[in-house]
Amino acid sequence: MPARKNHKSKFSIIDFQKKFSTEDKCREFLFNLRFPQGFVCPECGCTEYYAIWKRHTCQCKYCRHQTSVTSGTIMDRTHLKLTYWLWAMFLFANDKRGCSATYISQTLRLPYKTAWFLIQRLRNAMSNRENKYILDGIVELDDTYIGSSDHGKKRGRGTSKMKIIVAVSKAVNGAPKYVKMKVLPNLKDTTIGKFAKKNIAEFSKIETDNYRSLRKPLAEKYFHSYETFAPDKNMLKWLHTIISNAKAFVEGTYHGMERKHIQL
Ligand SMILES: [Zn+2]
Repeated sequence: MPARKNHKSKFSIIDFQKKFSTEDKCREFLFNLRFPQGFVCPECGCTEYYAIWKRHTCQCKYCRHQTSVTSGTIMDRTHLKLTYWLWAMFLFANDKRGCSATYISQTLRLPYKTAWFLIQRLRNAMSNRENKYILDGIVELDDTYIGSSDHGKKRGRGTSKMKIIVAVSKAVNGAPKYVKMKVLPNLKDTTIGKFAKKNIAEFSKIETDNYRSLRKPLAEKYFHSYETFAPDKNMLKWLHTIISNAKAFVEGTYHGMERKHIQL
């Protein structure tokens, strides 16, 4: 996911409400997003169409293929109004603690099932996008644990809590650009190596603490810089901010979360 900055989103709630107050406004927005240069038929490339407004569809004048602004998107074939979709996206994207189906259900006055379905689709879409993204440049990397321990005894890297690896790429000025979080079965060097290979471009600079399992997998294809972690040194600052937000999200917004749901 793109890292959030501290300043607020481009839109205030008032701006958002004005811009997306009706189904037509939402549809127009999506139309422009989908066809920034004007309509192009996805089947034949023809640029002329008939608007079949009752069904909110564009029909190509040449091949008669019908397409809507939502076809092929997460909003495809749902009965939920676009205003609800866009509001859910807005709320979802603007709450750094994440947002639960209960919250969406209460805020938008939607049945819980509908809210859950909606959130699930948003998460899937984000996760698909996330899988395609490769971090590069300077990347901070660390692991964390979320959830309750099975035994309640072991702490740190030997714990039975869920093990999560977090990597953040940084802009030249040090601000976070993009974040990846992945639930891993363990923190062995081969597992970490696989994560790095899939998610971080070769020859990126990776900054970590001096955890031993990190050294071998990061030695070959990366410039690995590590040092003993000291909280007063501002080390891995963004990473730890992001980890604490993630923990607040799971433990606060969700009051804990089952293992099978945590990745989404
Ligand atoms: Zn066509």
